[in-house]
Amino acid sequence: MSNQKELEKIKALLLARQKELEETIAQLQAEGEQNDQIQDQADQALSSAFETLKSSLHNNEYEEYKMIEKALEMVDAGTYGMCVDCQQDISEKRLQSYPNATRCLPCQETAEEEKEKNSSQSYF
Ligand SMILES: [Zn+2]
Repeated sequence: MSNQKELEKIKALLLARQKELEETIAQLQAEGEQNDQIQDQADQALSSAFETLKSSLHNNEYEEYKMIEKALEMVDAGTYGMCVDCQQDISEKRLQSYPNATRCLPCQETAEEEKEKNSSQSYF
């Protein structure tokens, strides 16, 4: 992933998806507030809305958002396309299917297994 043009394309893609997710998350947050009325600070900053969402059940969007954020950081740092765990290149095919991938496939599988183990252990 050293091709600057490809990187720009990916960055634009990631930014567009990030914006979409921001809207979805803000919407989910608004719905959550309507439903449980736990928080009545309507003008909460988006960042704290994310904090609340982290512990909610609607966290797929949040996780994707975090991944995109990380991928964008890596684009800027020039490390995009490199696995965060083993520092090997992530295959271009994988990056085309999952532009927000920050791990190679074997590391991703390992991470997901770990996550599953953790979530079944600590049910809140
Ligand atoms: Zn890896």
